[in-house]
Amino acid sequence: MRDLVQFHWPVDESGYEVFERAEQAIVPDIRPRRAPTILDSVTEPGGLYIRPKGGTVRTQPLFVSDPVLFMEFAATPRTPEGVIGFANKYGLLFSGSAAKEDGTTPAELLDGEWYGQMEGMAYLVEKANKKEWSALPERVFGVTSVLAPPSSTAPGELPTLKVRPNTLMSAIMLQFALHVSSPIGELKMCAQCKKWFPFGSGTGKRSTAMYCSKKCNERAKYERRNKKTGRAN
Ligand SMILES: [Zn+2]
Repeated sequence: MRDLVQFHWPVDESGYEVFERAEQAIVPDIRPRRAPTILDSVTEPGGLYIRPKGGTVRTQPLFVSDPVLFMEFAATPRTPEGVIGFANKYGLLFSGSAAKEDGTTPAELLDGEWYGQMEGMAYLVEKANKKEWSALPERVFGVTSVLAPPSSTAPGELPTLKVRPNTLMSAIMLQFALHVSSPIGELKMCAQCKKWFPFGSGTGKRSTAMYCSKKCNERAKYERRNKKTGRAN
């Protein structure tokens, strides 16, 4: 199943910022296909929002770089700083690009949107830890199946089935669902970068591993060495 997932999510390289917005009416479709109704007069709630600063965008293969992101998401502080820190690394939860098609910048509400999703994830992790499976949702939302034609016309080549989460939030939910339904190893937090990572049989990481990556291992070694030299002077 993990091999089936194809997911690249954009992250603004100049980072994200929180701003305050007053309640506002949603801009109606410029070419309505029908007469406006009372349902069109919807307002967007006021409050703190997060948006990209509008730099260049990089994409990362989340299921390779961060296969258990739901742990970090659940543990992220529900504060503007916490949300900015998470978005700077992984992007917005639902909006996939720095600029929408109409040229406006996507923005997501903290209270009610980000905080609500974080709280929901923390709840699911807690239930999974207690093995209260009946508390878990039956559906993992927002996934598209793609059947890609073979890359060559050579005989015997077959189409490839891929599953694509529609948003970062769907990807986080799918990672959670994969972990509880077919766990690979156990999870622990990296002593250096605080990311969670799987360890034990099948993960390529020993149960004594303290760091998520070679990079974090090197970084920790370097810091230890610097501390020692600092004391010697
Ligand atoms: Zn690390």
